Amino acid sequence: MRFIPYGWHYIDDEDIEAVVEVLRSGYLTQGPKLSEFERALAQYCGARFAVCFSSGTAALHAAYFALGLGEGDKFITTPITFAATANAGLYLGARPIFVDVEPDTGNIHPDLIEGALTDDCRLISVVHYAGHPVDMERIWSIARRYNLKVVEDACHALGARYRGEPVGCCRYSDAAVFSFHPVKHITTAEGGAVLTNNEEVYEKLLLFRNHGITRNTKKFLYPSHGPWYYEMQFLGYNYRMNELSAALGISQLRKLDLFVRRRREIASYYSEALSDLKGVMLPVERDYAKSSYHLYVLRLRGDFAHRKGEIFSRLREMGLGVQVHYIPVYLHPHYRRLGYTPGLCPAAEDFYRRVLSIPIYPAMSDDDLFYVVDCLRKVL
Ligand SMILES: *Cc1c(COP(=O)(O)O)cnc(C)c1O
Repeated sequence: MRFIPYGWHYIDDEDIEAVVEVLRSGYLTQGPKLSEFERALAQYCGARFAVCFSSGTAALHAAYFALGLGEGDKFITTPITFAATANAGLYLGARPIFVDVEPDTGNIHPDLIEGALTDDCRLISVVHYAGHPVDMERIWSIARRYNLKVVEDACHALGARYRGEPVGCCRYSDAAVFSFHPVKHITTAEGGAVLTNNEEVYEKLLLFRNHGITRNTKKFLYPSHGPWYYEMQFLGYNYRMNELSAALGISQLRKLDLFVRRRREIASYYSEALSDLKGVMLPVERDYAKSSYHLYVLRLRGDFAHRKGEIFSRLREMGLGVQVHYIPVYLHPHYRRLGYTPGLCPAAEDFYRRVLSIPIYPAMSDDDLFYVVDCLRKVL
């Protein structure tokens, strides 16, 4: 029986060639492919700087650090995300304040942010859930009023557009973070990046990725001991991206527009073919947004939501790799241990009860799509 996962990478001969070429050349890490990939990413998104990392999670950790989040601080984020968005703040000794979501997009609700702010809140980290951009103008205006930094966890939204501009250009944020895990829009196997327009933030990101080490003589805090001298100025990590990943990223990025076009094509096919099903609500797209459809998320209505377990199992038996994105982060045991309790974000918990992600990725054939729709129509 065939199995159609909810997401999958797309690798062609060009990608394979690009990686093999690196294996045959000199550098496996800290070579020329990394900066080439970073330049290409920054250019694609229209930001001044891009810094790559070993994962999207490492990139989030670095972005929060570079924007000054630290011990005892709070930051605003959404519960409807992969745990990494909140975890990256915990790594730094900060605590998330979870703000409830919009019931249709699943994005953080801009109207609810001001009421949740505390004096020790330093940063807002939003997630463009499923690839649908948050209304960043509104987030930015709140952040300006209360002197907060803004991070876009754009791990779902490479190739999406907000008011005509690419997500990642950072017009309304201090930094945007991407992941290149194989289920995301482009892959480097594991990998991530931070984009920013701020040179100081950029320099902190570079150091954070490499143990906090600088070799820039102009930046030394103490007199040099000689030509071998370098300084470890703060506690950083080894979060570097290797050359194989960077070469794969360059090759994948060339196909990104095709990938996004195919995802949008699949989404409009689903939205057409499922429009008459009474049991589901389909994804929405605001007039300011062009989603890159990392996920295609159905929301079950009424009785269908109560029977999600059964629906999920039947679809899995038919070979559909349906998934649920996401269990609200604060319901996980680790967060409960920190004092977060059920009922904190009622809209997020209701959203969680309803959602079901169905397969969407560029390598899906038309035949796969017909099969998915056929299974859904049978079960729903
Ligand atoms: C994938 C993802 C991450 C983490 O990325 P990794 O590369 O797997 O570390 C963070 N946030 C969101 C919203 C994601 O989807």
